[in-house]
Amino acid sequence: MNEKYEVVIGLEIHAQLKTDSKIFCACSTKFGGEPNANTCPVCLGLPGALPVLNRRVVDLAGRAALALNLNINHESIFSRKNYFYPDLPKGYQISQYDRPFSEHGWVEIPTAERNESGHAIEWRNKRFRITRLHIEEDAGKSLHEGMSDTTRSYVDLNRSGVPLAEIVSEPDFRSSWEAYDYMQYLRRTLQYIDVCDGNMEEGSLRCDANVSVRLRGAEKFGTRVELKNLNSFRFLQKAIDFEVERQIETIEAGGKVVQETRLWNERESKTYAMRSKEEAHDYRYFPEPDLPPLCVDEHFIGQLQSEMPELPEALRQRFISQYGLSLDDAGQLTEMRALAEYFEATTRACGNAKAAANWILNELLRELKNTGVEIVASPVSSASLGGMIKLIDEGSISGKMAKDVLIEMYRSGKPVDEVVREAGGSQLSNEDELQVLAEKAVAANPKQLEQYRAGKTSLFGFFVGQVMKLSGGRANPQVVNDVLRRILESSSESR
Ligand SMILES: [Zn+2]
Repeated sequence: MNEKYEVVIGLEIHAQLKTDSKIFCACSTKFGGEPNANTCPVCLGLPGALPVLNRRVVDLAGRAALALNLNINHESIFSRKNYFYPDLPKGYQISQYDRPFSEHGWVEIPTAERNESGHAIEWRNKRFRITRLHIEEDAGKSLHEGMSDTTRSYVDLNRSGVPLAEIVSEPDFRSSWEAYDYMQYLRRTLQYIDVCDGNMEEGSLRCDANVSVRLRGAEKFGTRVELKNLNSFRFLQKAIDFEVERQIETIEAGGKVVQETRLWNERESKTYAMRSKEEAHDYRYFPEPDLPPLCVDEHFIGQLQSEMPELPEALRQRFISQYGLSLDDAGQLTEMRALAEYFEATTRACGNAKAAANWILNELLRELKNTGVEIVASPVSSASLGGMIKLIDEGSISGKMAKDVLIEMYRSGKPVDEVVREAGGSQLSNEDELQVLAEKAVAANPKQLEQYRAGKTSLFGFFVGQVMKLSGGRANPQVVNDVLRRILESSSESR
């Protein structure tokens, strides 16, 4: 990128609130139904039908607002946003305009530029301001089929009236990666507090980005272009990068950036113009006459506050300070609330947080990914994994053997004791054989032997470990203990 220029990005994120029914009627919000199956006179916009606000929408929007440090207004107003579009049956969308549900929020999150291969260069914390979060209904969906002159268009109104929170940021982002990290954070947070399922393919979370460039040091913003419907994290990041380069090239060539809406084309890896941007007044906002002002009191807000779970960023910080985990490990483990809970339960079961983190991140997650299973449905319970780590720490099984144990637990769903007992058939319990291995282990470590003789009896575990290693993790720990004790005692007596 040309260093003369500075990038300015603002994000508008639409998050579908996780309700069973729509915002102003009782129709289902379930995804994937027959086109137009989930509709009624209200969401079809038939004359005379009246909206009634779904209370659950207010609960969820309130929770999201608190998680993003927004002030919830005691009174907010629903407004009509007028525009004509085939998938908008009423000819307007019920949204909020000059008196939104909540305002003046912020998040402070780790963010980093990435190198060519996508690796973070240096993480640092940055604060991004959030202008507002307001409540609105979604529009329907137009589907186009066929090519040019034979194109047919259809309208599906199942989405019409699905509740959304629109989260508008200040233009605080200075790179595509900052936008990327913010979007990731928002998705994780909304999932944590159970407000939005975050499913971008199904459209539960959508992002529009306002992108402009200006000469470094300039105060005035450049002309901004809106990138619409960026429905994956990669698209968001790539589309912004492309758009920044395009705008700089335009200016450098003596041209002017035009204010417009552009779409990202993934196949061609470029953006193209969709329509010139309407000014805000084109929407002719006015208060919705069929809905009273939305009033919430301090008691309601206090109630929401008391029900708020620990947020991912706080949780990540706690994992680092309480368990001594690395930033990366803590970040991965707090990616999903269920995963964080699984990690803490495993740690409680074994008392070894670092081992728990390693086994979950390196082994268990791989198995889950290979079999397409979610952590909540893991065939290996946290108690079993914790039990297994305990056996390793006690020297009862080797790390190598534990890998097989884990895979067997995963395959069979059996608890750790049972798997280890069944694997006992292959365990080496023959005293003569173990005697040979133990003598070998002692002979190979004369320095430790001397220290042991000198009274450093804590080295006993070290020798157990050596024998385990020589046996490929198959030695019966009880027999090893007996044999070793005999050898070490006798050698100190014979001295
Ligand atoms: Zn309906």
